[in-house]
Amino acid sequence: MSSSNAIKKLSKAARIILVGAPGVGKGTQSNRLITRYPQLSSIATGDLLRDHVKNKTSLGQQADAYMRGGKLVPEPLILNLILTELTSRSWITTDKSNDEIIATLGKGTTIQPSESPDCSFILDGFPRTATQAQALTHVLPMNLIFHLMTPAEIVVKRMSNRWTHASSGRVYNVGFNDPKEPGKDDVTGEPLVQRDDDKEETWRRRLSTFEETSVPLLNFYRDRSPDMVVDVQGNSSDEISPQIFAEIDKRFA
Ligand code: AMP
Repeated sequence: MSSSNAIKKLSKAARIILVGAPGVGKGTQSNRLITRYPQLSSIATGDLLRDHVKNKTSLGQQADAYMRGGKLVPEPLILNLILTELTSRSWITTDKSNDEIIATLGKGTTIQPSESPDCSFILDGFPRTATQAQALTHVLPMNLIFHLMTPAEIVVKRMSNRWTHASSGRVYNVGFNDPKEPGKDDVTGEPLVQRDDDKEETWRRRLSTFEETSVPLLNFYRDRSPDMVVDVQGNSSDEISPQIFAEIDKRFA
């Protein structure tokens, strides 16, 4: 697909959210978007949280049990995480502390983002609920929401085939990205494991949480502006990417 390999320049600031069930390939789409539009960067709250858990920070210790149980991390924790990240990347500038911002959300505190195309970004995994979306709108208004849709049975099959090398994070997929020796990491030969949240039971819990929260989330944005939300359907990432690219090219390139 030559059009998907082309590098494109944005002429307007894109502030994009990817909404989709766990395992639908939001991370894959983020990576492809960053390659195609080098002005874009990405924040994946799941990755940030996993780093906190791995580094045993206080936030990570508080988030760990929720993540293991396939539950959403409580709102104040996740808002703290996202505000720290946005400030450290200079996507928002403020002299207020996170606690002060969270305490005054919706009471006239709005931080205007830069409209330079170089300040374009994707949020992956945040906001997940209408309340998070509302909080984000006060801090940083987004301008395009993609709703990625893949049938649940296809996602389940994909997840159950995914094996990880725990210490490096290398991921293998049975059937199309197999390890050289079944069940073993190519580089170290160590055994592969299934990530707790790749297990079907955990995944089904996460899916039902997603279904409960994503409807009000998408409605929140549709109510603000119907053309802000774009539904994209596909059975694989390769079916989804060209549709996303076309929409971004149309609006921001
Ligand atoms: P992900 O890798 O995006 O599927 O996230 C993994 C886990 O991190 C989720 O199951 C939640 O426990 C937690 N998490 C990530 N993003 C959020 C969010 N926006 N709000 C609450 N919890 C989150």
